[in-house]
Amino acid sequence: MSVVTAAADRSICSPLPVLGKDVTVPLVTGGEVTYAALDYAASAPALQRVWDDVAAYAPYYGSVHRGAGYLSQLSTDLFENSRKAVAEFLGCRAGDQVIFTRSTTDSLNLLAAAVPADCQVFVYETEHHASLLPWRDARVTYLNAPRTPAQAVETLERALAGRDSSPSSQLRSSRGGPIGPALVCVTGASNVTGELWPVKELAAVAHAHGARIVLDAAQLAPHHPVDIDELDVDWVAFSGHKLYAPFGSGVLAGRSDWLQDAEPYLAGGGASRKVARRADGGVDVEWHSTAARHEAGSPNVIGVYSIASACKALTEAGFDRLVAREQQLVTRVREGLAEVPQVKVLSLFGDDAPRVGVISFVVEGWNSSHFAAALSAEYGIGVRDGLFCAHPLVRTLLGSDPQDPGECGAPEAEPGERSLNAIRVSFGAGT
Ligand code: PLP
Repeated sequence: MSVVTAAADRSICSPLPVLGKDVTVPLVTGGEVTYAALDYAASAPALQRVWDDVAAYAPYYGSVHRGAGYLSQLSTDLFENSRKAVAEFLGCRAGDQVIFTRSTTDSLNLLAAAVPADCQVFVYETEHHASLLPWRDARVTYLNAPRTPAQAVETLERALAGRDSSPSSQLRSSRGGPIGPALVCVTGASNVTGELWPVKELAAVAHAHGARIVLDAAQLAPHHPVDIDELDVDWVAFSGHKLYAPFGSGVLAGRSDWLQDAEPYLAGGGASRKVARRADGGVDVEWHSTAARHEAGSPNVIGVYSIASACKALTEAGFDRLVAREQQLVTRVREGLAEVPQVKVLSLFGDDAPRVGVISFVVEGWNSSHFAAALSAEYGIGVRDGLFCAHPLVRTLLGSDPQDPGECGAPEAEPGERSLNAIRVSFGAGT
């Protein structure tokens, strides 16, 4: 266990102060210890700066968009300026929209609800369930797990080339029509292995075949700059609670066309510009065509403001510095784990693949859930155990059948048997 406790070294100062650094927790062995949060990939602690910004604003918050009062106007300004701050953080292009949602899951479900009816979606089986599952009404092609970044690009190239030459596409183009719309959904950094995906190359392949691409940046954005223009992706989704803001807010940013044409994600006030009774007794609605179309209801102003504050704090701290320090921690943990023969680190792309501070492993002879519980009870270290909402990927990495429905958090194998779930240590700028 000492290898994992190395990652929780309480003497290392974080470059960005976060809440909870002084929280003490009881140990089963007696006494207390300062809690070491190593589950950033699930939810990172909020930055002190975010908390301070929210505390400074809290006495002044009011309704947004609809109030004439001073505080309402102040809140509306803060809300809309937060949108601009997020657009700047993501390097949005002219015409891109920033839509505030509840989370990455919510953002991808919103996009899934907005894709054209005949859209074909391509998604790797290795994705987090938030990227894997929302495409229920679309025609979905699940791509097999690649074992190198280059193979990921080849797999997509082959799948999109296959679509181009499919009988229905050929029929459409022979009639002078466009091949139907397609969307690729890919993660920027895996929530299981921390490995970086070749997003720019995948975007180039998608666009070469007339497809669009959405980047699930839930795990990438807290660790690396995400520039929508530079990566040339059509949309980016991420969550505030993984980016050092509190729970409850997320972002979908990018092209506006499919979103403007789609039915509002939620129907209600704020999304509608004009509503009038019709002579036949029904109602006519004119929906907004801006981000407001998909933001019906009173928004999470504090959550949105927190995201903007976190974006600014990360930018000001400088990603170069943050990445350099995080990579030192990654090396330290991986070297420590490599010293223990019973430990197997899970990896799709191999040891040399660039990665963020997310490392999953199994320990031979240990039940992963018991191991994680012992880290908490005996050392005050919080990690995650299970299949990390990426069941097919973790099963592939553990050598079990990715098609086996199994159970999340299934009981562990006996010593010597194959593990059924894993342990994940994750950290970042606040560690
Ligand atoms: N995508 C990835 C890669 C994730 O790691 C997660 C959460 O762990 C999600 C999407 C979903 O994020 P949320 O639970 O905030 O919607």
